[in-house]
This record gives sequence, structure tokens and C-alpha cells, in this order.
Amino acid sequence: MSGILAFALHYEGAFNKNSLGGVSEAARLADELGCEAHGVVIGDVSDDLAASLGNYGATKVFRARDVPEGLAQPVVDVMAKVIDDNGHDYALFGGGLLGFEIGAGLAARLNAGVTMEVTQVNVADGRLTAERPIHGDSSISTSHYKDRGIIIGRLNAFETAAPSDATAKVEDVDVQLSEFSTKAKMVQRGEARGEDIDIEGANILVAGGRGLGRPEGFELCEALAAALGGAVAATRAVVDAGWYPYSTQIGQTGKTVSPKLYLAAGISGAIQHKVGFQSSENIVAINKDSNAPIFEYSDLGIVGDLNKILPKLTDAVKAKKG
Ligand SMILES: Cc1cc2nc3c(=O)[nH]c(=O)nc-3n(C[C@H](O)[C@H](O)[C@H](O)COP(=O)(O)OP(=O)(O)OC[C@H]3O[C@@H](n4cnc5c(N)ncnc54)[C@H](O)[C@@H]3O)c2cc1C
Repeated sequence: MSGILAFALHYEGAFNKNSLGGVSEAARLADELGCEAHGVVIGDVSDDLAASLGNYGATKVFRARDVPEGLAQPVVDVMAKVIDDNGHDYALFGGGLLGFEIGAGLAARLNAGVTMEVTQVNVADGRLTAERPIHGDSSISTSHYKDRGIIIGRLNAFETAAPSDATAKVEDVDVQLSEFSTKAKMVQRGEARGEDIDIEGANILVAGGRGLGRPEGFELCEALAAALGGAVAATRAVVDAGWYPYSTQIGQTGKTVSPKLYLAAGISGAIQHKVGFQSSENIVAINKDSNAPIFEYSDLGIVGDLNKILPKLTDAVKAKKG
């Protein structure tokens, strides 16, 4: 049987947004191909939670209960077995570092083609093709798969479908883990400062750059983000300088986001930063330099000193919200 197998990552009794996007995308594509989309989950996942992937279009969910969570190789073992036993043609991941690691391992294990940072998947002649931006997002490369294909999305590239009432059938799988897969153990799940904020899931991001002048400058962004009900993001220049946590970095070597509003304060708009937020619905930039590159792709540009503008904007938002 051909089909698409989507990996779903869970934490504290819920699937993460990227995984639900991946399952939704798998279901959309399976519908076009005329096959089924299945989910695969690892570890302590209740029947109800596993079955809830059916809300996003998975018809069946394979669950490997006794497999350690958080590490790539055991998941590779599970997915390779499920794919071999059930004949899936494709494995799909919503994105994220764990997805990259599992996908790469799975490609090697199955001798399959793999494409990472995928932003669009299409059906052509009954097969999937995967598009990924290359050369700093200035061109698109399209992958075709000779045989089995592994598709790993760019974070937030796949839209989460509106949930339905459908539920998925849950099937427990027993997998003999490879000896090398159990060599590493997760001792503790750590949270870096800022990790508690869901940057990728935020609808509003107030991003700060070197123009903030000093680490304390981020307090201006935090105040505005709090007033707007959003989160704070940053450029690599400032995270490298230790002004703000790495987990908030947006861009080529950071996170990719697509909020409803991306407000960039004191950010020049380097291409490596731009690729991380260019699919935002609305981009607003505050920069004292009217020639700053960020204005070339902003929906609204404000030329001026952020130290004056950000507090006024925060007050105005608070006043409007009463
Ligand atoms: C391989 C590679 C990967 C990279 N990956 C990333 C990445 O993932 N993410 C990323 O962000 N960068 C990345 N970079 C770095 C990137 O090239 C830029 O150096 C960085 O984005 C610049 O950060 P910035 O805009 O904060 O700083 P700057 O470029 O220094 O810009 C600061 C801006 O603030 C403005 N400003 C100053 N004072 C004020 C004020 N008072 N009011 C208003 N505006 C003011 C200035 O006019 C200026 O435009 C990467 C670079 C390389 C080579």
C-alpha cells in the first residue's frame, strides 16, 4: 500500500503546531494522490491524543510506546519499520531540528531521497515533488523522487487544517531498536531562557536588532509585545552579542516565522534575517536610516528613533485597549 507517513511530536499532552501542519499537509497530498495519510507517534501518547491526529486528516496512527522520546535514532528505527511493513512511499515532517535529524537518518536507512526546508509540495504525474528555496531564497529548487521520498518542511511552511471530528485508528507497533540507537540517552529536558515563548506560533512578533543599542533596549520591545499580546524576536547580531537568547533568533541560521504582524525595530534587514520572516502577513519597520534595506520589503516603514517611537506605540496600544 502506498501512502504518506507524517511524524508528530508531542509535549505535555499536545502535538506541536508544526507537526499538525505536517499531518494536515500529508492528508492534503494523500487526497490528491488517492492514498492515505498516516501519523507516527513515540512514547507516552494516550489513545485519545493519538486518535486526535484524525482531526487533521490522518486515517491511522502508529504508536511506539516503549521507545525513548527526544532522540532521533530510535524514531528512525520506528519509522523505517513502519514504512517497510506498510509500504509508505513518503515520510513527511513539519520541520524543526529533530525532524531534520530523523529525516536525514531515515533517508540513509531507506536509501531514499531527502529534501529539507521544503516550502511547497506538489503532485505531478501521480508523484510528489518538493520545492525548497536556495541561494538565500532567490531561487527555487524542485526535487523529484525516484523511489521513496523524505520531505522535511521549513518551520511553519505547512498550514494546519481546520480540525474535523474525524478520529484516526491507533495501532501499536513493537520495534526492536538498533543497538546504536540506544547508546544515547536523554538525561533531562532543558529549557533555554525564552524557550517558554512560542516564537513560531506567535501571531505578533516585535523583533529587535542592533539599533536597540544595548541589551536593556529589549525592554522596549518586551513592553510593546506585552501590550500587543505578542512575543519578542531578535537578529543574529544581537543574540551573538549576548543581548537576547538564541532561541529568539530569526533568519537563515535561526527560526522561520510567519506571524500576522512582524514589527522590526532597529533591524537593517540583511538577507539572512529576511529569509526568516518574509512570509509574515504584515511587516512594519522602524529604522532611523531611510535607506535601510528593510524598508524595501516592509508594508509600513517608520523612519525615526526607536527610543522615541516604541514607547509611544506601546502607550497608544495600551490606550486603545483601554
Ligand atoms: C552565514 C550567515 C548566516 C546568518 N544568519 C542570520 C540569521 O539567521 N539571522 C540574522 O538576523 N542574521 C543572520 N546573519 C547576520 C546578518 O547578515 C546581519 O549581520 C544581521 O541580521 C544584522 O543584524 P541587525 O539588523 O540587528 O544589525 P545591523 O545590521 O547593525 O542593523 C542595525 C540597524 O539599526 C538601525 N538603528 C540604529 N539605531 C537606531 C535607532 N535609534 N532607531 C532606529 N533604528 C536604529 C540602523 O540604521 C541599522 O539599520 C547571518 C550572516 C551570515 C554570514
